[in-house]
Amino acid sequence: MKYYYDLHLHSCLSPCGDMDMTPNNIVNMAKLLGLDVIALTDHNTSLNCKAAMEVGKEVGLVVIPGMELTTSEDIHAVCLFPTLEQAIDWNDYVDEKRIKIKNKAEIYGRQVIMNSADEEIGEIENLLLPSSNIGIYEAYHKAKEFGGICYPAHIDRDSLSILSVLGEIDEYCGFRTAELADKSKLPELKKLHPILNNMNIVTSSDAHYLENMREAENFLELEELSAENVIKYLDR
Ligand SMILES: [Zn+2]
Ligand SMILES: [Zn+2]
Repeated sequence: MKYYYDLHLHSCLSPCGDMDMTPNNIVNMAKLLGLDVIALTDHNTSLNCKAAMEVGKEVGLVVIPGMELTTSEDIHAVCLFPTLEQAIDWNDYVDEKRIKIKNKAEIYGRQVIMNSADEEIGEIENLLLPSSNIGIYEAYHKAKEFGGICYPAHIDRDSLSILSVLGEIDEYCGFRTAELADKSKLPELKKLHPILNNMNIVTSSDAHYLENMREAENFLELEELSAENVIKYLDR
């Protein structure tokens, strides 16, 4: 079966995420757009995943708990986990490894934790954007230890991507999947980086605003849809 996905979305917990990116708005917009599965991947935190997963359960949409990790090299990488518990363990691990500076909400935006009724239940004090001290060579292997996967985000972008920072996807990083922001660039990138021929390629919206979420267009072929199966597929 084909299952339409968007595996890179930010909520109001990301400082750069719009306050309209609430758990209910994200999940219901995903439904409207015809998606079957989404992942919530806020910058260096997974603390809005619980609410989004609960809403997903109510409306019949699979929500994979995740995070967009900033590595020590300032490379963005999507991390996905089969269960909320694993994602929260990973969240706590990354939290220990982050540079701690206070958020200035008036400059960077608020970092709001919500429940499944879209009520504010907390706010993260330290800015979520600075890098962790988890390196790009250990990110995949560490995420695996926590039961999940990790892969480089928007590799075709000019900043905060593995190609803009390292210039290459080194096989020793261990990544099995790469995310492209613009999939029309894939043929050109495959010529420059043949390793992509042996990797799974995904394209997600990286939406920070509801209006940037995309119509169902990209799909995975799975026998049965679950967070675990999506992760297994992307780790082939
Ligand atoms: Zn990013
Ligand atoms: Zn992102």
